[in-house]
Amino acid sequence: MFDYQPSKDLLAGKTLLITGAGDGIGKAAAISFCRHGANVILTGRTQSKLEQVYDQLEKECPQQAIIHPLDLLSANENDFQVLATSLNEQYPCLDGLLHNAALLGPRSPIEHYPDNDWHDLFQVNVNGAFSLTKALLPALTKSSSARLLFTASTVGRSGRAYWGAYSVTKFAVEGLMQVLADELANTTSIRVNSLNPGGTRTQMRRAAFPAEDPATKPTPESLMPVYLYMMGPDSINLHGQSLNVQKFNPCQE
Ligand code: NDP
Repeated sequence: MFDYQPSKDLLAGKTLLITGAGDGIGKAAAISFCRHGANVILTGRTQSKLEQVYDQLEKECPQQAIIHPLDLLSANENDFQVLATSLNEQYPCLDGLLHNAALLGPRSPIEHYPDNDWHDLFQVNVNGAFSLTKALLPALTKSSSARLLFTASTVGRSGRAYWGAYSVTKFAVEGLMQVLADELANTTSIRVNSLNPGGTRTQMRRAAFPAEDPATKPTPESLMPVYLYMMGPDSINLHGQSLNVQKFNPCQE
């Protein structure tokens, strides 16, 4: 794994929003960003999970975290605007947005892939990321060094049988990342990239590979040096890149 020793105050003074912050990689990222000095905005679908993360942060970190429940499946344009407006009151400038939340859906051949799952995965994995980015771009633009980080997948860079909408939505996420990176390159200081965590010991991984021994996969916490690097000042030269956490070497990217 990438050997990076971030300073304790790497993200001091930064305000970062994480989707899917109640579990798995998003939860580890929220805790890690906060431990390195960031103000974090925790969004997710299950309020009780967000509250657990909030309680942990309250004990550990002097900065105040904010919870904003947001179900990307049911959220409409107004819900995204409400989030943007309420954040603007407390944090007019947003320094980072980690699009982490995603649905896995079934593994099934396309011929039998359920239409409702296809729709739901596009809604959460693609449309949710689009709408949230759109609503928060004004706040990201105000930062002198914002980071916009999408979460990719190996099956979203090379299609794989039976991974259906999950694979296709992750391709779309890469496309959204590339379009935004090109659009924002010369007009803002926002750095836009995608990061593939690789097989990681979470609920999603267990659902996808039930027969696998979870101990063979890295924990979400062990990936955090790369997430910190990507959110902090050291990733200033990375833009429009499709990166891999478990093979991360920013000098070669
Ligand atoms: P988890 O299933 O552990 O966490 C996913 C998070 O997304 C949860 O917090 C979940 O909320 C949230 N979420 C799901 N649906 C919605 C919704 N409708 N609205 C808001 N939030 C929602 O997965 P991981 O931590 O493993 O995955 C994190 C990211 O990493 C995903 O983008 C995934 O595709 C990607 N990834 C993961 C890999 C792995 O091996 N784990 C490999 C490659 C990529 P709740 O807790 O309420 O259910």
